[in-house]
Amino acid sequence: MRRTATLAAVALTAGLLAACSADENTAAKAGAAASASAGGSASPTPSGSASVPADDEPLPDPDDPALDPALSTPVEDSVYPDVGDPSVDSLRYDLDLAWTPDSRTLEGEATIELRSTADGDHLQLDLGEPLEVSTVTLDGADVPFEHTGKDLVVTAPVVEDERYVLEVRYSGTPEPTPAPTTRSDFSTSGWTITPDGETWTMQEPYGAFTWYPVNDQPSDKALYDITVTVPSPWVGVANGELTDQSEHDGLTTTSWHLSSPASSYLVTVAIGDYTRTTNTSESGVEISYWVPTDRPGLAEGMTYAATGLDWLEARLGPYPFDSLGFVLVDSQSGMETQTMITLGLTDYATSPAVLVHEMAHQWYGDEVTPNDWRDVWMNEGMAMYLQGIWQAEQDGRSADEVMDDYASFEASMRAESGPPADYDPTQFGEGNIYYGPALMWHELRKEIGDDTFFEVVRDWPARDPESNAGRDDYLPWLVEHTGVPRSFFDDWLLSPTTPDRS
Ligand SMILES: [Zn+2]
Repeated sequence: MRRTATLAAVALTAGLLAACSADENTAAKAGAAASASAGGSASPTPSGSASVPADDEPLPDPDDPALDPALSTPVEDSVYPDVGDPSVDSLRYDLDLAWTPDSRTLEGEATIELRSTADGDHLQLDLGEPLEVSTVTLDGADVPFEHTGKDLVVTAPVVEDERYVLEVRYSGTPEPTPAPTTRSDFSTSGWTITPDGETWTMQEPYGAFTWYPVNDQPSDKALYDITVTVPSPWVGVANGELTDQSEHDGLTTTSWHLSSPASSYLVTVAIGDYTRTTNTSESGVEISYWVPTDRPGLAEGMTYAATGLDWLEARLGPYPFDSLGFVLVDSQSGMETQTMITLGLTDYATSPAVLVHEMAHQWYGDEVTPNDWRDVWMNEGMAMYLQGIWQAEQDGRSADEVMDDYASFEASMRAESGPPADYDPTQFGEGNIYYGPALMWHELRKEIGDDTFFEVVRDWPARDPESNAGRDDYLPWLVEHTGVPRSFFDDWLLSPTTPDRS
């Protein structure tokens, strides 16, 4: 698709706007809001009460080597230290969820296989205060617990490097948590309930704890199995592959398996009246689209994702996971939730530019994930750069011209929210983490040439797939593979003012 210069400028401004996609500004927001008639469901809210059956399954074996890919080195987050606990290394969350729209009640049973990273007398997870815990067991035995605020503390002796199975049963009406941001497209994060009783979640930088007990920090990746039971015809959509769907007594149960470890902010569940369609990229990746049943036209507009994925694979290498889908929800934003991207029902959030941006994150953010929120620039800088050069191609403009546009507002964003890698914690996800690092990548590309640049872009996520990393891993690696001195990167990432562009 070609755009006129004016439209291209608007599209770029819109780029400012999209949790993971940059924020919406007022001009583009007007258009987005006009089209955002989200929230209405095709069918009336189904009555019927869903519940989690009593658990009579044998305990899983936490020493199963199949869990080893989920071993992490959790760290206390330097930006948001009150969330998560580095003494827990979660390996697999098996979440059995039941949602009753009439009463807005979530029932959950979480079976969590985890490793203790230290000797101690307790385990701590995050779980939203509105949820009431009925029982907690460790390796099958009841254990005492305290649930104060969002802290769920389980009293039990634990040994460094030993693995355990923690089971938590809970219920209540989840409430989203205030997000540490001044963005216009979201102010809370976590489990969100629409007026009709549908639900969705976006939870960056934290907020997974609003609906399940979790070590809610990016440095702790884990595998996920999520089962959702809801009154028919509604359905629950989550990360990974849909492995089972069944209907009994007016309730629909879907089971999802995520085979690649994910940080908690990349987990998604959406419940509503959805219809699934699919198409396939040239490279053979089947993409599923979970679209509100009363908005079938949206599915058609989103089929561009297949073309966009081919464009990305040509630059980043093969798509790194074994499934890919999109679920549309009543939000103004978009989020790169792993293998099942969550997008707001707006023209902008469902636009080709945002599809490309969120899919780029499957490599930059999801396959390799920051181990500390101070390095979220690792995600957004590259996604925004790739979106920018994709946009340039679409518009018949040069990448330099698009970067000039980025530069026209980057300095003020840096002044407002801080340097990209040392930002104001109350301004999470502002433009400063997107556009400055995107400009840095373009300057690097000009310095080292296209061949080396795209080699580096492709090699970094493939270097250690399904891992966490931070600047102390990435920057020395970049210096080694580009020959560009560390000071170049530090200037772009840490300077209070924009470095000179070539
Ligand atoms: Zn993003």
